[in-house]
Amino acid sequence: MTTFADLGLLPELLKAVEEQGYTVPTPIQAQAIPVVMAGRDMMGGAQTGTGKTAAFTLPILQRLAPHASTSASPARHPVRSLVLTPTRELAAQVEESVRTYSKYVPLRITVVFGGIAMEPQTEALRRGVEILVATPGRLLDHVQQKMVNLSQVEVFVLDEADRMLDMGFIPDVKRIISLLPPKRQNLLFSATFPDEIRKLCASLLSDPVTVQVAPKHATADMVSHQVYPVARERKRDLLVHLIRSRDMRQVLVFCATRLGANRLAYQLNREGVHAAAIHGDKTQAERIEALEAFKAGKVGVLVATDVAARGLDIEDLPYVINFELPNTPDDYVHRIGRTGRAGKSGEAVSLVSPDEHEKLADIEKTIRKQIPREIVAGFGPDAARASSLMPERKAGRREREQPSLTGRVQPRPEQFNARAHADDIFFKPYEPATPAVEATAESRTAAAGSLAGTPRKPEPQVAALLGGWRRTDR
Ligand code: AMP
Repeated sequence: MTTFADLGLLPELLKAVEEQGYTVPTPIQAQAIPVVMAGRDMMGGAQTGTGKTAAFTLPILQRLAPHASTSASPARHPVRSLVLTPTRELAAQVEESVRTYSKYVPLRITVVFGGIAMEPQTEALRRGVEILVATPGRLLDHVQQKMVNLSQVEVFVLDEADRMLDMGFIPDVKRIISLLPPKRQNLLFSATFPDEIRKLCASLLSDPVTVQVAPKHATADMVSHQVYPVARERKRDLLVHLIRSRDMRQVLVFCATRLGANRLAYQLNREGVHAAAIHGDKTQAERIEALEAFKAGKVGVLVATDVAARGLDIEDLPYVINFELPNTPDDYVHRIGRTGRAGKSGEAVSLVSPDEHEKLADIEKTIRKQIPREIVAGFGPDAARASSLMPERKAGRREREQPSLTGRVQPRPEQFNARAHADDIFFKPYEPATPAVEATAESRTAAAGSLAGTPRKPEPQVAALLGGWRRTDR
């Protein structure tokens, strides 16, 4: 087994790692550290939670260590490494990690992100920093004010590139890249590789080495899924009922919008369920406060949007509840990744209203599993619609996959093994785009099926929330 010492890290870095109590490099660390130390460009398929921050931070510190200087002159501290992250939380976490690992290497580090005053950041930039962690918008603000010079960047890291794309940051990222010197090392990390990101990789990376790891604990993940069909206007009542009747004490609830998250947290508090919201409109201080209160158990329910939750180091949650289904199946996978970690079982609960049936069908297609439904007595859609809300009964389908219309407790939902997840990008090495990759949705679906050894019909009978409903758009 590879140890950190085997990787050839400096004693100063080994000491800092040891103080963290880390004995064995994670798979992404074992694979990426030698690549980055060799100065190669890298494309890392890895999510937050895999140890990817140390995977790029340690070799960057190793590379920059000879530049460490105690000189007070700003000229002796140019920005030599730039790490771009999509969210403030992730930026703050990355900066904290860099500080931790650089404890015995006197390099200067700072982080800049929006939502807080610019002046302290400006001051730090003026004094000079070797490692700059930033979100794109705020970095460009500093660039505009000529407070930062990126012309001496040796190593550029683009973290969570797919989330940058989701958040519409790619134009900003490209502008920032255009400010970097042409000769530099580039590292890109992404959990998924949609076409846009593949294109970005092709333009950004030069002869990259690909390193791909499964999400942390992916094989051990034991997440059970449950769908509760419910009329949209009864979702909040059902949520309160579930939290109370099942004595849920630490729940991450996902909403589609900031407004929705705020409103839900407010309403839950009014009903006596202690909740806090975390989303992009909150100040950094408010978000940190909410997160800390949740982690400490002072607040039982954290209501979040996808954007705010991405990058948060919240682990081992017993429950994740989708108050609204996410827009993409990828986001569903990210959401449920918050539970069932470290071999513990977790539950992913979705409150699904009839208008969300397409999203549910897409999710089921992606995870290649029909999620059991259960109508909780008194909370389902009205009787006339109830029968049409359920998936079609297929000959031979196991009875436990049938929803209960009585509200009686169903048998435990099937355990979900993330390995069976159909998004092979999590488990397969990256392959550059070829005509096959650019193929149509149908052939992608068929290819995904055959890769897993389970040939699929091009038009599988995906269970729709609305009975008898079929996809017609692909
Ligand atoms: P990251 O994916 O970088 O956000 O890291 C996820 C978590 O794993 C962080 O809390 C790290 O402190 C922790 N971690 C990083 N490397 C290791 C390691 N080699 N062994 C144990 N934990 C680690």
